[in-house]
Amino acid sequence: MANDIEIARSYTLRPIEEIAAGIGIGKEDLRNYGPYIAKIRQPALSRLLEKPQRGKLILVSAITPTPAGEGKTTTSIALAQGLARTGKNPIVALREPSLGPVFGIKGGATGGGHSQVLPMEDINLHFTGDLHAVTSAHNLIAAALDNRLHYRQGLRVSPRNVLWPRVMDMNDRALRSMVIGLGGSSHGVPRECGFDITAASEIMAILCLSTGYEDLKNRIARILLAFTEDGDPVRVADLKVQGAAAALLREALLPNLVQTGEGVPALIHGGPFANIAQGANSVMATNLALRCSDYTVTEAGFGFDLGAEKFFDIVAPSGGFSPDAVVLVATVRALKMHGEVPKSELDRPDPAAVAKGGENLEKHLENIAKFRVPAIVAINRFPGDTDEEIEAVRKICESKNAAYAVSTGWADGGKGAVALAEEVSRVCETGEKGKAARLYDWKLPVEEKIAIVAHEIYGAEAVDYTTEAKKDLRRIQKLGYGELPVCIAKTQSSLSDNPRLLGRPKDFLVTVRRILISAGAGFLVPLTGDILRMPGLPRVPAAENIDIDAEGNISGLF
Ligand code: ADP
Ligand code: MG
Repeated sequence: MANDIEIARSYTLRPIEEIAAGIGIGKEDLRNYGPYIAKIRQPALSRLLEKPQRGKLILVSAITPTPAGEGKTTTSIALAQGLARTGKNPIVALREPSLGPVFGIKGGATGGGHSQVLPMEDINLHFTGDLHAVTSAHNLIAAALDNRLHYRQGLRVSPRNVLWPRVMDMNDRALRSMVIGLGGSSHGVPRECGFDITAASEIMAILCLSTGYEDLKNRIARILLAFTEDGDPVRVADLKVQGAAAALLREALLPNLVQTGEGVPALIHGGPFANIAQGANSVMATNLALRCSDYTVTEAGFGFDLGAEKFFDIVAPSGGFSPDAVVLVATVRALKMHGEVPKSELDRPDPAAVAKGGENLEKHLENIAKFRVPAIVAINRFPGDTDEEIEAVRKICESKNAAYAVSTGWADGGKGAVALAEEVSRVCETGEKGKAARLYDWKLPVEEKIAIVAHEIYGAEAVDYTTEAKKDLRRIQKLGYGELPVCIAKTQSSLSDNPRLLGRPKDFLVTVRRILISAGAGFLVPLTGDILRMPGLPRVPAAENIDIDAEGNISGLF
């Protein structure tokens, strides 16, 4: 069987100008990065964003996934291709890949099989340099802060109270914590520091929530960086580098246009992770898609409890849009995992385990209903799945009265997702049109907001706070950040904050360790469990299989 990169090479791509023309964007509005990739230039973007929204918004999420991923990106692309085959004019809006997963365990983020966005080598590696720009803007602020510490001008920044790490786009656990500024008085002030992965940078979160350059700059100015010796907040505005940081992001703020293997337009822009940040592509890309298509398909990271909850409570209100339907991706292998099959045996047929794992799917369906949007379960069929196993998933959907369709988009491209596309359009066109709800009012006290998400979505009994987290709560009150929404950092491997609790965990406590303030992005980040903002590589990283030949052909990406 051909692998992803071989399949990707078998497609003949259309010039990006043709793809753009199909959605009403002229070639003068593009900034090209070779023949198949372009950014939408600022004047066109402003003009298009002023138009009213005309498309439906379909949010693709998933049940609690296995470490390999359950195929949200693949299904989003398949669905868009399926919609195109049923006469619609869809756009798929996705995040850009981070090098962490590309070289780690999960692989790239450009879909798979016959449902990919192309050219996948470019998109997975460097693309248009947006992640590089985010890294530079972030580290400029870090350098400016340490420079203030060094020169001791004006602000008396406390070296023990710096909140702003450095970032790079790599899984590198050895950089998590370190001491910088060693070597004597002309080499900076010694202090503890560390690196996060770029996808966890507040700059990435800001890029994805900003509505234009002014908003971008204002948000950067508001970032809380450190405290002074007197305990006063130090913000980017105090360092006067918001303009320079925003200047570094000039191109990065513009959405990237590419195409799927079947020529469906794809906007790929911004890449925050969903376990530690808001987990969706930029609101600019989604808003653009909603004005240039009749169906916008977008993905929220990991399970519905992470990216999708954040989509409804943070991203959608910031972007001014609201999902018309949720597509919940379910796979036989993840259901088997929730049915207590060990990870090494997930390839063995076991319909009874699928049925047993169904409680995880049921909980996610109940969660979707809390946002008052219709759900369609996409049963993402893998080549090894048996008919009996697929039947077991159907039964779970039917017992919950949930709409569903089997998708073979990975094996068959858009053709394999026509049934899903028809089900999605049926639900969108017949259902009563209400506005999706939010789970909580931003004005509620912080602890109440966290309790609502933990109780309603995760199914927790109660929330516990460490002494540090309690201190953070007091600080948040004192600084006046209490009315920000909560972007909870939590493991993707369980509905709970303990990655070992599969299925539908009950009677558990969620422990909040710390609560970080992302004042520029405009949310608080309660950290639960052991969740890290700088991942590590696995024992055998995907990097060991990636290669390039004498002609410059890359292999081993997936
Ligand atoms: P997610 O977006 O949910 O993390 P992806 O769409 O990236 O998941 O898919 C994860 C991996 O699984 C990719 O390598 C993809 O090619 C593969 N995959 C997804 N769906 C299928 C399928 N139906 N059959 C085989 N492989 C699949
Ligand atoms: Mg994905």
